[in-house]
Amino acid sequence: MKPRRAVSFGKSAAQFLAGCVKQTVTAKPHTDPDGGLLEAVKQWQQVFEHNPVMYFMVDPAGTVINVNTFGAAQLGYTAAELIGRSVLDVFFEEDRDFVRACVALCLETVDQSHTWEIRKVRKDRSVLWVRENAKTMQRADGGPIVLVACENITERKEAENALRQSEAYLAQAQELSHTGSFGWRAATGEISWSKETYRIFECDEGSKPRIPVMLERIHPEDRLAVQRMTGRAAREGKDYDHEYRLVMADGSIKYVRAVARATRDSGGQVEFVGSVSDITATKEAERRLRESEQRFRDYAETASDWFWETGPDHRVTLISEHSDTITAPAGLIGLTRWDIAPDADLEPEKWREHRAALDAHVPFRDLVYRSKDRSGQPIYVRTSGKPFFDADGSFLGYRGVCTDVTAAIRADQAEEALRKAQAELAHVTRVTTLGELTASISHEINQPLAAVIANADACLTWLKRSPPDFNAARRSVEWIIEDGTRASDVIRHVRALAKRSDIEMAPLDANAVVREAVALVQREMASHAVSVRMELSSALPKIFGDRIQLQQVLINLIMNGIEAMECVDDRPRELDIRSAACDDEAVLVSVADCGVGICEQAMDRLFTPFFTTKSSGMGMGLSICRSIIEAHGGRLSGASNQDRGATFQITLPRHREETS
Ligand code: ADP
Repeated sequence: MKPRRAVSFGKSAAQFLAGCVKQTVTAKPHTDPDGGLLEAVKQWQQVFEHNPVMYFMVDPAGTVINVNTFGAAQLGYTAAELIGRSVLDVFFEEDRDFVRACVALCLETVDQSHTWEIRKVRKDRSVLWVRENAKTMQRADGGPIVLVACENITERKEAENALRQSEAYLAQAQELSHTGSFGWRAATGEISWSKETYRIFECDEGSKPRIPVMLERIHPEDRLAVQRMTGRAAREGKDYDHEYRLVMADGSIKYVRAVARATRDSGGQVEFVGSVSDITATKEAERRLRESEQRFRDYAETASDWFWETGPDHRVTLISEHSDTITAPAGLIGLTRWDIAPDADLEPEKWREHRAALDAHVPFRDLVYRSKDRSGQPIYVRTSGKPFFDADGSFLGYRGVCTDVTAAIRADQAEEALRKAQAELAHVTRVTTLGELTASISHEINQPLAAVIANADACLTWLKRSPPDFNAARRSVEWIIEDGTRASDVIRHVRALAKRSDIEMAPLDANAVVREAVALVQREMASHAVSVRMELSSALPKIFGDRIQLQQVLINLIMNGIEAMECVDDRPRELDIRSAACDDEAVLVSVADCGVGICEQAMDRLFTPFFTTKSSGMGMGLSICRSIIEAHGGRLSGASNQDRGATFQITLPRHREETS
């Protein structure tokens, strides 16, 4: 703060007072014979004391020589309390240098007036803002005196401070909200901008905003629209509100929204007052939202045939239009899912569970139900849904997606039917094979039965002895039991082969499966003079499969091998059956013969149904064997041996706990 020199102190109170002071100081009322002069002094004394202006007289050292009653009272003192004290006492510590400088300036420039604004401290430490007019005068006795007249400007200062503060708040608010303000006199083209508007337009605050500069900033594609909008608003004196883009110096794009209110000045000219907001962030967020919505829409559209929405009562409120398939059902609005599903009565448990999930407001996945397409054709629909809630957490309904899974379900049904047909066919061929094995089987049963009879005879003989030989009789009975059990095992096994067509998967020892199968065809081999050599690995992992089906495969391969060696007379008819582990991952079982081998033409068609080279063959054996092995996740292959005969090899994956 620098003391300002007043342009003119004129005939102000100070000048007046100067004379008055001279008079008060020099007058000698008691000796003056002129009573009129005394009266005048008294009057001026009154004026001095009670004029609502604070008057101070200060000597060059800064000591208060005089102060009027009003001035002292304004500071909360009596005049007597202030007289004789340093005038600095009524100023703030930090302002005292300034006061000293002011007094010094006045002393240097006698008879010149100076003005400044400063705070004073009242006795109660409150602040009093004053505008001071000061001037140094020579007293009649020669010494200089500084006369100060102070005007209380506290109210104005407070108003100014409040205004400054509110301007600061406004500027801050504009900065925070990225919203600047502007004024525009349409007739003169005069524009005024707030600080924030300058910032938004990235223009130098010192420069005067001009329309051409502004237009230059506006994106070329938006410029014409902005000109049209503002031009019309100016002509018609109408408010306007528009959005446009700015191209900033670095090439970046800024989105702004300008809103202006039209008014008319006293001369009737149109004037606008408005705001400019930087809405780039909002636009960006909107764009991201749109993009993310589009992304999810794309996912949903590719993952499903249509979307749906249901209300709090689970009735359909919306079905998406995006589906170009004809399957999306029509006319469902207002209905519940179970209203439209013809299987609602047939599968009450499924629907009860579904409704319980809906009532619990939990998501559900992959509910498959029957429905009808737009043309009334039955379809299968798979649907998943998620509940949605308002901001207060109140349940509003479900949103979800639907897919027409008719083709997949039909394919599953067809596969199931095929699987059943195959199982039945396998069963039929098993029974057929058993028919062919009747001789073997009867032998397998007759042999132990004959032994039972022989042992029973022997037992009787031992008992008839005198004394009876109980030990020998007991041994005979034990043998009877063993043979009886053997016969009964065979019968049980044959019955299982003949009867069951259901599949029972279980962890199995492949060697045991091989041994049981071989036992059944033992006699068949013997009657064809075929000898079997088994090399079964003792370190096999378990496999997972259906015992009967796997035995059927083995019996088939063995029977084929026996038949392939039927015409072999020049060498022993040998069948090699081996088992081995393959990398601890799979089990290999092979059946090799030294028969006719497989000719090239037959090679490609071995596993084709009804391919046979035998007069009484059906050509189904290998095809069934392959489908059984593949259903077990394995492979079945056949090839001619290098020298003679053929080898058929089964590969089955090892059993893993989690697959059981
Ligand atoms: P089928 O035994 O009723 O002919 P398969 O499907 O079991 O039916 O066999 C099909 C054909 O594969 C046989 O007719 C035969 O030509 C050939 N084949 C099968 N096993 C052997 C084998 N071990 N050696 C040579 N040819 C074989």
